[in-house]
Amino acid sequence: MAVKDIIDALSQTTVGERRLSELVKDVKMISGKVEIIYNLPAGVDGPAISDATKSALKSLPEVKEVSIRFSQQEVRSQPVTTSPIFSRRSVPGIGRLIAVASGKGGVGKSTVATNIAIALSKLGNKVGLLDADIYGPSVPTLVGLKNERVHINEQNKLLPLEAYGLKVLSIGFLLPSEDTPVIWRGPMLMRALTQFLFDVEWGELDFLVLDLPPGTGDVQLTLAQNVKIDGAIIVTTPQDLALADVRKAVSMFKEVNIPILGVVENMAYFTCPESNQKYYIFGKGKVAEFALAYELKVLGSIPIDPQLCSSSDVGKPIALEDSESAKAFMALAQVINEQLKRRN
Ligand code: ADP
Repeated sequence: MAVKDIIDALSQTTVGERRLSELVKDVKMISGKVEIIYNLPAGVDGPAISDATKSALKSLPEVKEVSIRFSQQEVRSQPVTTSPIFSRRSVPGIGRLIAVASGKGGVGKSTVATNIAIALSKLGNKVGLLDADIYGPSVPTLVGLKNERVHINEQNKLLPLEAYGLKVLSIGFLLPSEDTPVIWRGPMLMRALTQFLFDVEWGELDFLVLDLPPGTGDVQLTLAQNVKIDGAIIVTTPQDLALADVRKAVSMFKEVNIPILGVVENMAYFTCPESNQKYYIFGKGKVAEFALAYELKVLGSIPIDPQLCSSSDVGKPIALEDSESAKAFMALAQVINEQLKRRN
């Protein structure tokens, strides 16, 4: 179902002398949830429009939930013929915005996002890293900025911090203490995230790497609908359970038309330091199989590396070093760099 189907259904119903479709200012639709913003004309009351909308959309089985809002602006004199849909904004100064996502928590999404940022920077790019993982902002720890706070300049813009040549901003910097539960919901959270992207003095960057929260909740959807994302990377481990959740993440990006650059297989294997033999602890080839089925690329495979844990704890990303996993991150960054250049 497309937004056009909604507009078509709304054009079949009138309130007063107007078709509902003539009053539509914007329509957003995601996973069966439809949000309609109407221009409220003089002499027509909101509840009448809401009721008429709900009955008009009853005929569309894919519509599971309808929310309606009103804008006080003047009504268009012309009926809506084309769908207005998402007005995605680009973040000023950012060459390419990459979103790093995962189906569920604990698969190494933040570790991968951070090391991709470092590796892209080692390739000579100017890179920013934005941690929007409101449920567990770990980027400050990963880059050694744990107890830092951000400042605001005279233009009320947030000033990112710097670590290893990256510009870094985390929702974690704005929380009073590490133990504060983040139970922000709805508009407040969305306002905070939008501010995060658009009210930051990023300067000029080649890449901004956005560490999304795990899963496919409202935060991901809001960002996907409102921000121009050049490509999404989905991090997974090879376990079947994790792959089931990855499917949901893939569907979400496809539904909102954000190009998926590919999948990163994390904790792919373990290389025994004595024998140099590789052990595929969580299974071999499962991610490749999955990627093939969904016509996605495997961008890279990162080994299980005990050093990755310790380097994260001390706030020095492994990609700064010269180990096997550091090389895997460099290879991954090269693929991303090339792929985004080619799409240019
Ligand atoms: P997520 O962001 O998906 O919740 P994290 O990046 O916080 O996951 O990683 C979860 C834990 O797994 C961390 O302790 C991290 O150090 C560890 N980890 C991630 N990737 C690897 C890896 N390739 N090898 C070993 N440990 C890893």
